[in-house]
Amino acid sequence: MLYHSTRGTVAPISSAEAIKSGIAADGGLFVPEKLPSFKLSDIEAMVDRTYNERALAVLKGFLDDYTEKELNDCVYNAYNTIKFTSPEIAPLHKLNDNISVLELWHGPTCAFKDMALQILPHFMTNAMRKTGEECEIVILVATSGDTGKAALEGFKDVDGTKIIVFFPRGGVSEVQKMQMITQEGKNVYSVAVEGNFDDTQSGVKAIFTDAAMITSLKENNIKFSSANSINWGRLVPQIVYYFSAYADMVKSGEIKLGDKINFVVPTGNFGNILAGYYAKKMGLPVNKLVCASNENNVLTDFIHTGTYNKNREFKKTNSPSMDILISSNLERLLFEMTGHDGKQVSQWMKELKENGIYSVDEELQEEISKLFWADFTTEKETLTTIECIYKDYNYVVDTHTAVAVDVYDKYVISTGDMTKTVIVSTASPFKFNQSVAQAVLGEKKIAGMDEFTISHVLSKECDIPVPPSLKDLEKKEILHKRICDKNDMPDVVKDILKV
Ligand SMILES: *Cc1c(COP(=O)(O)O)cnc(C)c1O
Repeated sequence: MLYHSTRGTVAPISSAEAIKSGIAADGGLFVPEKLPSFKLSDIEAMVDRTYNERALAVLKGFLDDYTEKELNDCVYNAYNTIKFTSPEIAPLHKLNDNISVLELWHGPTCAFKDMALQILPHFMTNAMRKTGEECEIVILVATSGDTGKAALEGFKDVDGTKIIVFFPRGGVSEVQKMQMITQEGKNVYSVAVEGNFDDTQSGVKAIFTDAAMITSLKENNIKFSSANSINWGRLVPQIVYYFSAYADMVKSGEIKLGDKINFVVPTGNFGNILAGYYAKKMGLPVNKLVCASNENNVLTDFIHTGTYNKNREFKKTNSPSMDILISSNLERLLFEMTGHDGKQVSQWMKELKENGIYSVDEELQEEISKLFWADFTTEKETLTTIECIYKDYNYVVDTHTAVAVDVYDKYVISTGDMTKTVIVSTASPFKFNQSVAQAVLGEKKIAGMDEFTISHVLSKECDIPVPPSLKDLEKKEILHKRICDKNDMPDVVKDILKV
């Protein structure tokens, strides 16, 4: 299996090369030349298997340059009960006859990014060995919250790597900040930047392309790489849980083998839902993929009209991990749906970069809207949804998951479709506890409390335990005290790497 760039001008490479490099030299994203196909009998064979066995079945079709033993090591090092609090790894929680919730937040950082970032470092170290790489790999991350912590946790103490995470000093929640500055591990660094997320991200991008920096790294046998969702090694593990959820629906008797189901996905960068699209193309019986956005609803508009327009106000919402105006992984969908037309995709991406807007033709827009249904949710609707789910089902969801449930309600009202549906749940309610407590307990009850106290109260009132990794977070030792100006980020990197 070879990997092509979505911009079409790079010679195809193996999966190990694609995972090691992250992004293609022409600026495109790596995608497989064709998708492995699964028959119903292959899916049936997954029903009585563990999550890890299902993962191996899916991954081996994509990473066929990895040996069975290598893949086995990757999977079992990533998904185990030392790291995950659920032995099922990605359990399904039945809400009612129509809705099941796929809980993707039982990993070490309590958000779904763990599903990919626990395995990516293992893919990468194997890739380095397989490709004869002799440099040390340094992962640079700019984060608005979830990715940073998940990447630190994934790469901690992984031989041959270091990881440096930059976060905007005032732009992450108290829980997220504490998670990052108390991070343990001998190869991990987190740095607060005086600036907002855009400053932080631009700073990291500039370091990646800083010629002087790259030269001095070379002299010291160091290479940069990236852990964000443009890396194929982050996308591919996400395909697994769509198959796993389906197998669990069959196992529990919710559906018969071959019945189609819907997936509703709270979407920002389009990585998670794209994995669902790949699963469908590989043969998983999927009816609709419902793309749920918050008020940064670029994708809703794109799916409805065929025009992607990022020239709009950026809104900070109570589902911050979806506050995104450029959904990078959409590029992979466009490449797939144009029959791998790299030239056309390059043109659209050029227009996006230069003018912030591009339009696909009517025929493609129609095809896209047959596969995807899209809508968005306001902050207020998000809170009301959390409250209703708690009242009706005694089940607490986080703000991102609530966006998905609300958009699903809108879908049912609009289409009348009663197909069994899986809501993809992307974070533990404790990760965004302020909004969650506001919704289920009322604003008065938590007035003046800090996030750590809110966690205790939420846990007690709703009778659900605080996840172990968030428990007593405020008492942990602070290990990372670096704060820097946005212009000094390159100096911080040089200082850490001693170059
Ligand atoms: C990253 C994230 C999302 C968005 O996922 P994409 O793959 O970027 O679409 C949704 N919810 C949570 C909690 C996240 O951390």
